[in-house]
Amino acid sequence: MINFNEAPFLGTEFGFIEDAINSKHISGDGIYTKKCNNLLESYTNSPKSLLVHSGTAALEMAALLLKIKPGDEVICPSYTFVTTASAFALRGAKLVFIDIKEDTLNFDETYLEAAITNKTKAIVPVHYAGVACNMDAILDIAARYSIPVVEDAAQAVGSAYKGKKCGAIADLGCFSFHETKNISSGEGGALIINRSEHIEAAEIIREKGTNRSKFFRGQVDKYTWVELGSSYLPSDLIAAYLYPQLQQVDAINNKRMLIWNRYHCSFETFESKGIIKRPFIPNYCQHNAHMYYLRFNNIETRANFISYMKEHGITCVFHYIPLHSSPAGKKLGRSIGNMEHTNHISDTLVRLPLFHGMTEQMCEMVISYAAKFLAAQ
Ligand SMILES: *Cc1c(COP(=O)(O)O)cnc(C)c1O
Repeated sequence: MINFNEAPFLGTEFGFIEDAINSKHISGDGIYTKKCNNLLESYTNSPKSLLVHSGTAALEMAALLLKIKPGDEVICPSYTFVTTASAFALRGAKLVFIDIKEDTLNFDETYLEAAITNKTKAIVPVHYAGVACNMDAILDIAARYSIPVVEDAAQAVGSAYKGKKCGAIADLGCFSFHETKNISSGEGGALIINRSEHIEAAEIIREKGTNRSKFFRGQVDKYTWVELGSSYLPSDLIAAYLYPQLQQVDAINNKRMLIWNRYHCSFETFESKGIIKRPFIPNYCQHNAHMYYLRFNNIETRANFISYMKEHGITCVFHYIPLHSSPAGKKLGRSIGNMEHTNHISDTLVRLPLFHGMTEQMCEMVISYAAKFLAAQ
């Protein structure tokens, strides 16, 4: 049996959790939350990181920070996880979905100008599979129209674009530490704030709308309700679990990269025969081996592949049902163009097992069954 994913675990997490318990402070913003934020700030070279309880929470905070309101429009890909879009729709925004590119499966910035209206209040590119979007082009268009850009970097912890860490390139960046991501505390996330004018407002939003963070720093002598916010802090126990993984982020990603590269080399011949397509990594991107996928020519072959692998005890999965054709997406958004790539990729992509605890033998077994299937095509 080879699972599709197992939560990353180093073994040192226990000691840090014990230490957090002994500190007698396990609510939000304890010592480990601060340590994680400091690490994230130095690692991404960003002025401010705020640990939150999920990637979704980071996106929701971004929507609150940008003061998204009913009638506003927000541009995002359709081929993505639900909360890239729902975080903004929750504030009343109308979603404007654009197609992805054939090669990277990222947000196609060439549709961006056609999607922009005078109601556009945010652009949300997703670094799919930890592969950076074409950020220079996106930021250039956004700057011309003065529209803020929020990076959904949920899958891209440790990835970089032209040497700059994903999440720290645009106005705001959102990381996820969900169990399925490279670095994990089960549930978890961080909002990376790259513009200093957002820092104070973000601290307030995260602290239920109060200026408690200022109070703790001694900048005000009592704290009070100043804005609309909510509860986005994780317990310090969560941060204690996350901390050793954040310290090891490059080592964890490098280990995944060995598996990723092994897959990539093994499937090369099948790509040259036109049986599948493999992931494409542009020169400007240093990726984090978040995901390995194969792309088939049609939905039937993909279904056969998934059942074949399952018969041999290997779980392979696909995603995403395009948001623009989902029941909620149809109500809450509109799309630009015919969404050709989004629809095709949704039907034909399959993800292979890839996780930190995966052994060489497991990887070889996945490759050997996949190769058997592919050789018979
Ligand atoms: C995982 C993910 C999220 C949500 O993160 P959670 O921590 O599960 O809330 C958002 N966007 C993308 C692209 C993701 O992959």
